[in-house]
Formats: sequence, structure tokens, C-alpha cells
Amino acid sequence: MSHPPQPPSLPRDLVEEDFTDVAILVVAAGRGARMGFGAPKQFRRMAGKSLLSHTLEALAAAAPGATLLTVIDASGLPAYQTAIAETSSAVRQALAAPAFGGATRLASAHAGLEKLHELAKPIKVVLIHDAARIFVTKKLVYDAIHFARSHGACAPGVAVVDTIRQVDAAGHATSTLDRARLRAIQTPQGFDFELILAAHRKAAAEAVSDVSDDAGIAERAGHSVRLFEGDPENWKITTMQDFERAESRLLANRSDVRVGQGFDVHAFCDGDHVWIGGVRIPHERGLDGHSDADVLMHAMTDALLGAIAEGDIGAHFPPSDPRWAGAASEIFLAYAAERVRQRGGVIAHVDGTLICEAPKLGPHRDAVRARLAAILDIEIERVAVKATTSERLGFTGRGEGIAAMASATVRLPG
Ligand code: MG
Repeated sequence: MSHPPQPPSLPRDLVEEDFTDVAILVVAAGRGARMGFGAPKQFRRMAGKSLLSHTLEALAAAAPGATLLTVIDASGLPAYQTAIAETSSAVRQALAAPAFGGATRLASAHAGLEKLHELAKPIKVVLIHDAARIFVTKKLVYDAIHFARSHGACAPGVAVVDTIRQVDAAGHATSTLDRARLRAIQTPQGFDFELILAAHRKAAAEAVSDVSDDAGIAERAGHSVRLFEGDPENWKITTMQDFERAESRLLANRSDVRVGQGFDVHAFCDGDHVWIGGVRIPHERGLDGHSDADVLMHAMTDALLGAIAEGDIGAHFPPSDPRWAGAASEIFLAYAAERVRQRGGVIAHVDGTLICEAPKLGPHRDAVRARLAAILDIEIERVAVKATTSERLGFTGRGEGIAAMASATVRLPG
């Protein structure tokens, strides 16, 4: 897999451009479980967050100050909210409430435009983008905005490299099309807002169904569409194979591999259970601590924070703070995982070792792994939990408490 080309350096006037009158509509209303995705592909996770989140991050970074609005199917609202919760504050600040899509791609774009029209903020230029093109670049966004301002309607097109032949009903090749005069059309397509809103309203009133994109809708209303140079890297994720290819490309970019370690101890006290990795394990003693004293989870939290060099559990959750008295330690672990994601990173693996004479971890090992995987939001294959005694030596050997060690491997953008 080749690495994506570096974006070209931008002219100064573009860098300083004001995007406050720009809106970007992201169409993500597909309900289909086509191509074996099982769930709508826009909410499927790749490299640590949903496909939709990757697209929104790219757009927010390309056009700071622009309004983002996503069109979803109403049934996808919970999945949408989950996806949005893990995006950066730049995305969340830019996002307007979602619009609910119609039965077709065109009806969904139209619904999004009507929702933008209702916003108090005046919009002059709108880009309409497919959620499934996650590798949209700054240059494409700039060009779409620029040509929308100067021409009213524009779309990126890429030269066709394969020979394109027409076929008859039986699949036999008939004529060869002139490649030099063909372009494969992508998104983001850019428009003067009033122009495309009026064109969509007209198409909806006339129940148009034979147009496949928004540029086509503008053309149908009598506007010429300025094509600009698209980007072959801005491909659309359609099949499961595309999805895997996109994910490996994203992961290939996360080449800054960090390993963090953590260590924790809690003393036994009166009680009848201990919390280990989020699982309540019956025992003749309890563990003493300000929170639920989940020694394994504390070590693992420190390992994650260590991997990103962001202090330790005590710095983020001071024991002096009454909010954390008796707290479930999964709050700490989920927070550390979120810090990794906020940095654009993924958790490659965590590995913990419990040091005690009792209780025995073995019967609970897989429950602990499953619980940790759920809290970290990673696959269970990436979570290892082990236990050892200290041969009756030292404080763990005398049964005075439990110690835990953990390591975590994190991949950050390189
Ligand atoms: Mg602790």
C-alpha cells in the first residue's frame, strides 16, 4: 500500500480564507447492509472511530469555521450520536443538528439543504459530500469552495485510466468511448447555496429520479457545472474490501508506536469481594482504596497515560477530589482510552499481570478480558490478563494486598 501524497503547500490567501459563510453537507443516510457490512457502513468503526467520524474530522480540519451538517436516516440516530461523541471538539463545535434523510440520495441532499436553510446563520456556499469518501483533502475542499464562489456549481472529476467500452444487453462489447473526454465525478461538489436549493426544490416538485448527483440537479436546472481536478486518493468506500483497504491505509499512517507501563498496589481490608478488571470477584477480604480499588484497571490506566506521556491517574483523578470516592474505575480507564483517541491514536494492545496469592484469576480471566475490551472499545484479542504469585514472599506473599503491572501499546499518527 503506497502512502498518500503529502498535501501541497497552500497559497497564503487560501490559508487565511474565511469559511464562516460555508456549509458542508455530509450525506450519510444509507440504511443498507449491502456488501456484507452488517450495519450501515458510515457507522462502522475503522482504526478507532466510525467511518463518518473520519470524514467529519477531515472536513472540519480543511475548512475551520464552516458549518457541518450530516444527513442521516432517522433509525441511525443512536449510532450517529455514538459516532459524534468520539469526534474532536473542532467537529462538535462545527456540527449543526442532523437532518433526516429521504428515500433516495437526492431526497437526502435536499433534506439537508432545507435544514441548512432553517439555520439562523446565513450560508452562501454549500459543499455536498459523500460520507464514504474519508480521504477528502484540503485542496479538494478549497477548490470546491473557490469554484462554487466563482461559477455557482462545480464538481471534482478525475481522468479515466481504464479503457471504457459500451456493452449491449447480452454483455458484448460494442463501442469504445473516448477516454480523453471522460471524467469520473467525485465529491465534494460545491454550489452557491441559493442556486442548489432552488434546483433541488424544482427537482423534488417534478419528482426527478434519473439524476445521480447534485451537479446533475444543478445542470438540470440550467446551470453549467465547472469541473475541477479531482483526486484518485479521494475514492469512495463501497465494498468490504474497500473498507479494509481504507483501514490499513489509516493504520499505516499511525507509525509512531508507543509502549507505556503502569504499576499499582492496594492493601486488603475487611470485605467479601474485590474488583479486578471491572469484574466483581468474591473473596474473603476486600481492597482498600479511595475508588473501587480496581488495582488492575489502575495499572492499565497508567500504562495508557504513560504511552501518550500524559501524566498518571492521580494527576487526572486526584484522590483528594471527593468526586472519585467509591468511583467505578472504568471511568479512569475509559478516559485514558479517550485521550488516546483524541490524539488520533489507536490502542494496539494492553497486557496486565496480577500479583497475589489469592483470589485466583483463572476462572475469571475471560470475563475480565471481555470487560476491559468493552471499556477500551477494542477487540478482546488485544487484551491480555495474567496472574502470578510471589511464592509467598513479600507483602503479596503474606496476603497483605494485591499488586498489578500493565503495559499498553499505542499507535499515534506518525
Ligand atoms: Mg490504585
